[in-house]
Amino acid sequence: MTVAFTCPCGKALRAESVYVGRWVKCPQCGNSVQVPQAAGAEPAEPVGGAAPPDQAAFGGSATRVPCGLAIASLIISLVGAFFVPVTLCFSPVIVLAICAGVVAIVLGIIARKQIARDPNLTGAGMALAGLIVGITDVALGVIAIGIAVACILFFVTYSRW
Ligand SMILES: [Zn+2]
Repeated sequence: MTVAFTCPCGKALRAESVYVGRWVKCPQCGNSVQVPQAAGAEPAEPVGGAAPPDQAAFGGSATRVPCGLAIASLIISLVGAFFVPVTLCFSPVIVLAICAGVVAIVLGIIARKQIARDPNLTGAGMALAGLIVGITDVALGVIAIGIAVACILFFVTYSRW
């Protein structure tokens, strides 16, 4: 027996009744939809028996997977953290560290929102780590630029004497 339901995007979906209450991914919009209880007499089975591939049961997508953005956020923030010590040799690199930090923060925030909305996604801890390391990248970058500016101001002042 199958349950017919409709995704908020308007796509008519159909899942095996064993998936009632579980979250499946809509093949059209990609959002997760909870399979509802069968509402009494459902419309007839699809004409011709077999359902089209995109209306079959989506059991495979009901497994929990890490959110890709959470992984990206963590990796980019770590790349940014790598740039901070490199800056000691070549200061313009700090701009890359700050950019990586900002990207990691944005991705981390988006990832945490997606994870909060989609119970099939994991990686909230990873997204949080990316967020924290990203903030650290930006903070260290700003401090490094502050020190550089202070040094330049010091030498400019000194050279006038
Ligand atoms: Zn949809």
